[in-house]
Amino acid sequence: MPKGSMWVVEDKKQKHVFWPNAQMKKRAWANSEKIYAEAEKDRAAFWEKKAKEGLHWFKPWSKAYEENAPYFKWFVGGEINISYNCLDRHLPAKKDKVAILWEPEPTAEKGRAITYGQLHEEVNKLANALRSLGIKKGDRVSIYLPMVPEVMAAMLACSRIGAIHNVVFSAFSGEALKARVEDSEAKVIITCDGYWRRGKEINLKEQSDIAAAMPCVQKQIVVKRLGNKVNMQGGRDYWYHELLAKEKPNCEPERMESNETLFLLYTSGTTGKPKGIIHDTGGYLTQAYWTTLWDFDLHDGDIYWCTADIGWVTGHTYACYGPLAVGATQLIYEGSPDFPDWGRIWGIIEKYKVSVFYTAPTAIRMWKKMGDDWVKKHGLGTLRLLATVGEPIDEEAWMWYFNTIGGGRCPVIDTWWQTETGGTLINALPGIGPFIPTVAGRVFPGAKADIFDDRGKPVEAEDTGFLVFKPPFPPGLLRGIWNNDEKYVETYWSEYGKNIYFTSDGAKWFDKENIRVTGRVDDVMKVAGHRLSSAEVEDAITLHSDVVESAVVPMPDEIKGQVPVVFAVLKPHAKACPECEQSIIQHVGKQIGPTARPAKVYFVDALPKTRSGKIMRRFLRGMLANEKLGDATTLQNPEVVEHLKQIVGYKAPQ
Ligand code: AMP
Repeated sequence: MPKGSMWVVEDKKQKHVFWPNAQMKKRAWANSEKIYAEAEKDRAAFWEKKAKEGLHWFKPWSKAYEENAPYFKWFVGGEINISYNCLDRHLPAKKDKVAILWEPEPTAEKGRAITYGQLHEEVNKLANALRSLGIKKGDRVSIYLPMVPEVMAAMLACSRIGAIHNVVFSAFSGEALKARVEDSEAKVIITCDGYWRRGKEINLKEQSDIAAAMPCVQKQIVVKRLGNKVNMQGGRDYWYHELLAKEKPNCEPERMESNETLFLLYTSGTTGKPKGIIHDTGGYLTQAYWTTLWDFDLHDGDIYWCTADIGWVTGHTYACYGPLAVGATQLIYEGSPDFPDWGRIWGIIEKYKVSVFYTAPTAIRMWKKMGDDWVKKHGLGTLRLLATVGEPIDEEAWMWYFNTIGGGRCPVIDTWWQTETGGTLINALPGIGPFIPTVAGRVFPGAKADIFDDRGKPVEAEDTGFLVFKPPFPPGLLRGIWNNDEKYVETYWSEYGKNIYFTSDGAKWFDKENIRVTGRVDDVMKVAGHRLSSAEVEDAITLHSDVVESAVVPMPDEIKGQVPVVFAVLKPHAKACPECEQSIIQHVGKQIGPTARPAKVYFVDALPKTRSGKIMRRFLRGMLANEKLGDATTLQNPEVVEHLKQIVGYKAPQ
């Protein structure tokens, strides 16, 4: 432990167990066990009280919670507007408070500080512009923007008029955007001329145009970020700043019934096509508000930075709606953590005096590998709380984050959640603790989790099982899958019946209260914190002219956690060679985006299959991880296993 640490440390099962000291408890919004006890007595009543306390409602609800499993509603009949809660209600006290600090990637370029008053004006003008273009409540708007303040303005403008937004990660390809635009039948795309990434200009408009050619797209709004010349199609494409210049700074917010849809966010499931997760309005914001306030313990004066891209759910809830709903000052950064060098992140923390920092284990492992010298060049003394999300964090990375970045002063809040849950559901609260490396922590007050075996019985203390949630379901939980109700029921409500939410994660109890999440149990992997499914990559590879069939499985990676690896069977005309491997890798990058690019392609004669013809990815996965492999004799083609073992250099565990 660092000298002078303020921690109360307990050693339990050979693990570090940290507890908040008196000062941290005193400061925290949530600092008493009573919170858990009160919520547990009546979970629906707990959320009802919190929705009233935290948010502004135009009309109260008639019923707090209604369930017709696997469907449920929160705050039935209540009317609310998200942008009103994130902006208007703060104006009397916080008009001049900075809402967004923006750091561009080029170090020579000046950043921006946007106050709540200025953001309110921009959002109102954009909302009016969308209405002028014919967009109304329920219409879908795709937002394809990098980390620039306009991305938040766009989300808030949609929420102001009740349009359903779908933000698409700017590193995704035009093809990936097109698939999402098509599925959601978006009428408008909001994009930009380009942005900076690792010192290079990325032409986003070119990619966006691929999707804008879809018949459903009527208009495209283009933010001028780089000022480069781009093709603007007359009658379809409009400059963002020109549209705003014509509009009034006041736009009446739409009164949304609490259960009406706020946004769709596409994520990877076990099938090839990404699913459009549906989030509602009032329930989502209730969970976003209280988890932001309690998990990150934000107070006036804090400078909060969540490094997640807005294209992922963490960006939605904790780099947009949550911090704005609680009236915080938050920082966003356009570029890459290694530009111009590996000291950039620490330099930004020093420059803006960041106090609360939320990032992913994959980034922590990378920074650790790059060495402490980058960190030591900067003063990180303003930090007081650290948090992580996205994948299990190993003890070494946790301790490095705690000691080297947090100087042994800052609690590390390991937050478990999913695109589907809308907000965090398992983590320690900073004023209550405990903070235990590799253990996500306690279930958030008002939610009820359990760990089941494959028959649906709660597991014994030491056993690993499947993480589930019980009713009443947390208010931020998804309300469906866009255009695919069958998939909604099958994915989340079939494993243990329609009354139990199945997370697709493995987990075990650390003690009676704290949960360790072990990772996905389906064919979904986390690559540098990004969610990617085997089937999604396999579907992309199917379109490659040289490949008959393929299997894509994760391989453990020291930095990224996991990386996708391909086993491909080639067509007779094709030659297994490094060029062909590169061509498959590039092809996947073009179809999905650089995050999905396979790390390696193995050319094989056949894939291991069950007698019914299903590819046994489990075997391939086990081989890459040098795990114990199951019985191969039941396969249709057991002989391929030996051959595959040789190709990958499999070493059975001792
Ligand atoms: P996404 O929907 O992209 O946020 O990915 C959700 C998945 O990320 C979960 O199902 C988990 O497998 C994993 N995950 C997220 N946060 C954590 C965490 N703190 N610990 C372990 N796994 C996590």
